[in-house]
Amino acid sequence: MSASSSGGVIVFLDIDGVLLPFGSNAAAVEPPALFDDACLSALSALLAAPLPCEPRLVLSSTWRAQPAFVADILDEFRRFGAANDGSPLGAVTAFVDATSTEHFGARQHEIASWLERRRAQGQAPAAWVCLDDEELLDGEECAERRAMFEGHVVQTRSDVGLTAEQAARAVALLRAQLAGSGSTSKRRWGDGEEEGEEYDENVTQGLQTHLSAVSRTV
Ligand SMILES: [Mg+2]
Repeated sequence: MSASSSGGVIVFLDIDGVLLPFGSNAAAVEPPALFDDACLSALSALLAAPLPCEPRLVLSSTWRAQPAFVADILDEFRRFGAANDGSPLGAVTAFVDATSTEHFGARQHEIASWLERRRAQGQAPAAWVCLDDEELLDGEECAERRAMFEGHVVQTRSDVGLTAEQAARAVALLRAQLAGSGSTSKRRWGDGEEEGEEYDENVTQGLQTHLSAVSRTV
Protein backbone atom coordinates (compact mmCIF):
# COMPACT_ATOMS: atom_id res chain seq x y z
CA MET A 1 0.00 0.00 0.00
CA SER A 2 1.41 3.34 -0.96
CA ALA A 3 1.02 6.20 1.45
CA SER A 4 1.41 8.72 -1.33
CA SER A 5 -1.23 7.30 -3.60
CA SER A 6 -4.20 7.90 -1.35
CA GLY A 7 -5.30 9.94 1.58
CA GLY A 8 -1.97 9.64 3.35
CA VAL A 9 -1.55 9.00 7.05
CA ILE A 10 -4.26 10.34 9.30
CA VAL A 11 -4.32 10.81 13.06
CA PHE A 12 -7.76 11.40 14.53
CA LEU A 13 -7.16 13.64 17.50
CA ASP A 14 -9.42 14.00 20.50
CA ILE A 15 -8.65 16.74 23.02
CA ASP A 16 -10.34 16.14 26.37
CA GLY A 17 -8.66 13.18 27.99
CA VAL A 18 -5.93 13.13 25.34
CA LEU A 19 -4.16 16.49 25.46
CA LEU A 20 -6.24 17.82 28.34
CA PRO A 21 -6.49 15.26 31.12
CA PHE A 22 -9.51 15.73 33.35
CA GLY A 23 -11.02 14.28 36.48
CA SER A 24 -10.09 14.36 40.12
CA ASN A 25 -6.79 12.57 39.55
CA ALA A 26 -5.65 14.73 36.65
CA ALA A 27 -2.65 16.94 37.19
CA ALA A 28 -3.44 20.63 37.00
CA VAL A 29 -2.27 22.54 33.96
CA GLU A 30 -0.81 25.89 34.82
CA PRO A 31 -2.03 28.80 32.70
CA PRO A 32 -1.22 30.18 30.25
CA ALA A 33 -0.72 26.59 29.11
CA LEU A 34 -3.99 25.05 28.07
CA PHE A 35 -2.89 21.46 27.63
CA ASP A 36 -0.55 19.14 29.49
CA ASP A 37 2.97 19.48 28.14
CA ALA A 38 3.67 15.78 28.64
CA CYS A 39 0.71 14.97 26.39
CA LEU A 40 1.82 17.54 23.82
CA SER A 41 5.30 16.07 23.94
CA ALA A 42 3.88 12.63 23.21
CA LEU A 43 1.87 13.95 20.27
CA SER A 44 4.95 15.78 19.04
CA ALA A 45 6.93 12.54 19.13
CA LEU A 46 4.25 10.78 17.13
CA LEU A 47 4.29 13.47 14.46
CA ALA A 48 8.09 13.42 14.34
CA ALA A 49 8.32 9.66 13.90
CA PRO A 50 9.82 8.57 10.59
CA LEU A 51 6.98 7.41 8.36
CA PRO A 52 6.67 7.23 4.57
CA CYS A 53 4.57 10.36 4.69
CA GLU A 54 3.87 12.93 7.33
CA PRO A 55 0.90 12.19 9.56
CA ARG A 56 -1.87 14.75 9.28
CA LEU A 57 -4.28 15.64 12.03
CA VAL A 58 -8.04 15.37 11.76
CA LEU A 59 -9.80 16.90 14.74
CA SER A 60 -12.35 14.46 16.14
CA SER A 61 -12.95 16.21 19.46
CA THR A 62 -16.10 18.14 20.23
CA TRP A 63 -13.78 21.15 20.24
CA ARG A 64 -14.16 21.06 16.46
CA ALA A 65 -17.58 22.66 16.76
CA GLN A 66 -16.21 26.03 17.92
CA PRO A 67 -13.77 27.90 15.67
CA ALA A 68 -12.45 29.76 18.74
CA PHE A 69 -11.63 26.45 20.41
CA VAL A 70 -9.89 25.19 17.29
CA ALA A 71 -7.85 28.40 17.27
CA ASP A 72 -6.95 27.76 20.92
CA ILE A 73 -5.66 24.30 20.06
CA LEU A 74 -3.47 25.70 17.30
CA ASP A 75 -2.25 28.42 19.65
CA GLU A 76 -1.24 25.71 22.10
CA PHE A 77 0.64 23.86 19.39
CA ARG A 78 2.42 27.11 18.57
CA ARG A 79 3.27 27.73 22.21
CA PHE A 80 4.66 24.23 22.61
CA GLY A 81 6.58 24.47 19.37
CA ALA A 82 8.15 27.76 20.39
CA ALA A 83 9.29 26.27 23.69
CA ASN A 84 10.49 23.01 22.17
CA ASP A 85 12.70 23.71 19.22
CA GLY A 86 12.14 21.32 16.37
CA SER A 87 8.75 20.09 17.50
CA PRO A 88 6.53 19.48 14.49
CA LEU A 89 3.65 20.91 16.50
CA GLY A 90 5.11 24.36 15.94
CA ALA A 91 4.53 23.94 12.23
CA VAL A 92 0.91 22.85 12.52
CA THR A 93 -1.11 25.86 11.43
CA ALA A 94 -4.36 24.06 10.65
CA PHE A 95 -6.06 20.73 10.90
CA VAL A 96 -6.32 18.95 7.61
CA ASP A 97 -9.97 18.39 8.43
CA ALA A 98 -12.40 17.67 11.22
CA THR A 99 -15.09 15.08 11.57
CA SER A 100 -18.55 16.35 10.76
CA THR A 101 -19.97 19.16 12.83
CA GLU A 102 -23.45 18.46 11.52
CA HIS A 103 -23.96 15.25 13.38
CA PHE A 104 -22.79 14.40 16.85
CA GLY A 105 -23.17 10.93 18.16
CA ALA A 106 -20.94 8.08 19.15
CA ARG A 107 -17.33 9.05 18.51
CA GLN A 108 -16.70 5.83 16.62
CA HIS A 109 -19.58 6.58 14.27
CA GLU A 110 -18.32 10.12 13.65
CA ILE A 111 -14.88 8.86 12.67
CA ALA A 112 -16.32 6.04 10.58
CA SER A 113 -18.46 8.54 8.71
CA TRP A 114 -15.37 10.61 7.85
CA LEU A 115 -13.52 7.54 6.64
CA GLU A 116 -16.42 6.29 4.59
CA ARG A 117 -16.79 9.67 2.94
CA ARG A 118 -13.10 9.74 2.06
CA ARG A 119 -13.25 6.24 0.69
CA ALA A 120 -16.20 7.18 -1.50
CA GLN A 121 -14.06 10.03 -2.84
CA GLY A 122 -11.18 7.66 -3.55
CA GLN A 123 -9.10 9.30 -0.83
CA ALA A 124 -9.03 6.63 1.83
CA PRO A 125 -6.06 7.04 4.16
CA ALA A 126 -3.23 4.60 3.66
CA ALA A 127 -3.04 4.38 7.45
CA TRP A 128 -4.98 5.91 10.29
CA VAL A 129 -5.08 5.84 14.03
CA CYS A 130 -7.41 7.30 16.63
CA LEU A 131 -6.13 8.96 19.80
CA ASP A 132 -9.13 9.07 22.08
CA ASP A 133 -10.21 8.39 25.62
CA GLU A 134 -13.64 7.33 24.43
CA GLU A 135 -14.49 3.74 23.75
CA LEU A 136 -14.04 2.96 20.06
CA LEU A 137 -14.02 -0.83 20.11
CA ASP A 138 -16.10 -2.30 22.87
CA GLY A 139 -19.73 -1.89 23.72
CA GLU A 140 -22.97 -2.11 21.85
CA GLU A 141 -22.54 1.18 19.98
CA CYS A 142 -19.19 0.09 18.59
CA ALA A 143 -20.02 -3.52 17.82
CA GLU A 144 -21.08 -3.09 14.20
CA ARG A 145 -17.88 -1.35 13.15
CA ARG A 146 -15.50 -2.96 15.60
CA ALA A 147 -13.60 -4.87 12.93
CA MET A 148 -13.03 -1.63 11.01
CA PHE A 149 -11.40 -0.03 14.05
CA GLU A 150 -9.33 -2.92 15.33
CA GLY A 151 -5.67 -2.08 14.98
CA HIS A 152 -6.44 1.63 14.67
CA VAL A 153 -7.16 2.64 18.25
CA VAL A 154 -4.99 4.06 21.00
CA GLN A 155 -7.22 4.64 23.98
CA THR A 156 -5.93 7.05 26.56
CA ARG A 157 -6.92 7.36 30.17
CA SER A 158 -9.03 10.45 30.66
CA ASP A 159 -7.13 11.55 33.75
CA VAL A 160 -3.68 10.98 32.23
CA GLY A 161 -3.97 11.80 28.56
CA LEU A 162 -1.62 10.69 25.83
CA THR A 163 1.61 9.13 27.06
CA ALA A 164 4.92 8.66 25.26
CA GLU A 165 4.36 4.92 25.27
CA GLN A 166 0.96 5.29 23.66
CA ALA A 167 2.40 7.63 21.03
CA ALA A 168 4.96 4.96 20.19
CA ARG A 169 2.20 2.41 19.94
CA ALA A 170 0.30 4.67 17.58
CA VAL A 171 3.37 4.86 15.37
CA ALA A 172 3.66 1.08 15.47
CA LEU A 173 0.04 0.72 14.38
CA LEU A 174 0.57 3.13 11.49
CA ARG A 175 3.72 1.34 10.40
CA ALA A 176 1.98 -2.01 10.55
CA GLN A 177 -0.84 -0.72 8.37
CA LEU A 178 1.56 0.80 5.87
CA ALA A 179 3.49 -2.44 5.72
CA GLY A 180 0.28 -4.39 5.29
CA SER A 181 1.48 -6.45 8.17
CA GLY A 182 -0.72 -8.61 10.30
CA SER A 183 1.97 -8.79 12.90
CA THR A 184 0.55 -6.11 15.14
CA SER A 185 -1.97 -7.37 17.60
CA LYS A 186 -5.40 -6.09 16.71
CA ARG A 187 -6.38 -5.25 20.19
CA ARG A 188 -6.88 -1.92 21.75
CA TRP A 189 -3.62 -0.25 22.56
CA GLY A 190 -4.69 1.08 25.90
CA ASP A 191 -2.53 0.98 28.96
CA GLY A 192 -4.09 -2.14 30.36
CA GLU A 193 -5.64 -0.47 33.34
CA GLU A 194 -9.24 -0.11 34.24
CA GLU A 195 -10.80 2.38 31.92
CA GLY A 196 -13.87 4.46 31.53
CA GLU A 197 -14.41 5.21 35.19
CA GLU A 198 -14.84 8.89 34.76
CA TYR A 199 -15.66 9.65 31.17
CA ASP A 200 -18.96 11.38 31.34
CA GLU A 201 -20.95 14.43 30.48
CA ASN A 202 -18.61 16.64 32.46
CA VAL A 203 -16.33 16.99 29.47
CA THR A 204 -18.02 20.09 28.19
CA GLN A 205 -18.22 21.57 31.64
CA GLY A 206 -14.58 20.77 32.24
CA LEU A 207 -13.64 22.41 28.99
CA GLN A 208 -15.60 25.54 29.79
CA THR A 209 -14.16 25.75 33.27
CA HIS A 210 -10.68 25.36 31.93
CA LEU A 211 -11.12 27.92 29.22
CA SER A 212 -12.56 30.44 31.62
CA ALA A 213 -9.42 30.09 33.71
CA VAL A 214 -7.17 30.87 30.80
CA SER A 215 -6.61 34.37 29.62
CA ARG A 216 -8.05 34.44 26.14
CA THR A 217 -8.78 37.01 23.55
CA VAL A 218 -11.61 35.92 21.36
MG1 LIG B 1 -12.17 12.82 25.01
